[in-house]
Parts: sequence; structure tokens; C-alpha cells
Amino acid sequence: MPYNKNMKPNRKRLFISKKTGTSERLKLIKLALENECNTLVFSLDDVFFKNKNQKFVKLIKSYPVNIEAGGHNLALLMPRNLFLFNRDLFRMEQGKRKQKHHFCPTNPKTIEIITNRAQNIFNHVIQGVTAPRIIHLLPEKGYESIWCQCPACRAFRPAEQYLIVVNAVADVLSRFDPNARIMYIDFDTEPEAARIKPRKNTIVSA
Ligand SMILES: [Zn+2]
Repeated sequence: MPYNKNMKPNRKRLFISKKTGTSERLKLIKLALENECNTLVFSLDDVFFKNKNQKFVKLIKSYPVNIEAGGHNLALLMPRNLFLFNRDLFRMEQGKRKQKHHFCPTNPKTIEIITNRAQNIFNHVIQGVTAPRIIHLLPEKGYESIWCQCPACRAFRPAEQYLIVVNAVADVLSRFDPNARIMYIDFDTEPEAARIKPRKNTIVSA
């Protein structure tokens, strides 16, 4: 079944933190289901997708809920240990590369790494997500507009740099499931001036 725009308001979501333990999760989920929540969202690196706790996975799948994946997961796309020898992949701030928070999205090598990582992640995650599939790709919490100031990136506003990454991941996702969508946030204050067009398989989070 293709994604239907009208479905968006019908999904009432509970984002489940990776750090929440099993018994706490079950309590939260039970409470959420009693309160008309119909969608559970697990982080892209959550144990839910690692098939380690079969009992928990089976139980969740027995509930009449949509399963989605993602959250503030951009950091998963760029291994921080590359910083030592590959600083150009990382974000520039006042002329210096920074290991933390996002990366340099106009570097083709960055996009290559992100693409490979996304491919790897979707390999593990996609089957656990119910169709029509939605993957949330949100910028780092509290650092939404902290992006790269290198000479190439400076031409793009933070929201545009973020969208470059969203589009790269959307291209990977379309190979797994052409009906799946990347959900992202639009924090740009001047949307009419946007030069980066979002891919067709993306939707803006309400
Ligand atoms: Zn840059």
C-alpha cells in the first residue's frame, strides 16, 4: 500500500528512547496504547531491530500498532573516529574542523560514507518497520542549526545542509522500499528561497 498523505494525522506516535529498559518500555507502551497512540518509533540503532530480544519483538508485533524507525540519529551516519585522519569530513566552525555535531555535507566523501552507513542501517531495520514505512531523520537535538561553515558549505543555510543529507538518505531508502518515506523537520525561515529541493520520498514532520 503506498503512503497516503491523509494517514499522517492518524499516526499518534510514541518515541522510545534507546536507553529505556524492557520493563519500563512495556509500561510506557501499554499506557500509550490506552491513550490512542497507534505508532511506536524506535531509534535506528535500537535493540528492537537487532533481533536479540525475540520475546519483546514478538510481543510488540502482536499489538495493532505501526512501527517506525529513527529520531535524532544523524550522528550514527558519521563515525566520529574518522576525525583523526579525515578532518575534511567534519563540520567547520571559525576555520577549525569540529568532531562533534553533524558534518560537512558538501564533501562528496561525506555523502559516500553517509550513504554506505544508511545502507547498512536499513539492512537491519527495514524489515522491522511496518508498511507504509516512515523513517525519521532529525538533526541533533539542541544543535539543529549548527552546521558546516567551510567555503563550500557556506553557500547553504543550515536547513539546506541538513536537506542535502536527508536527500542522500532518501535515495538509499528508495532502493529498499520505493513507498517508504523519510520524515524530516523544516526549520528554515525562508522556504521560498530554498535551493535544495526535497526528494519525492520525503515528508515534513508536522
Ligand atoms: Zn563543509
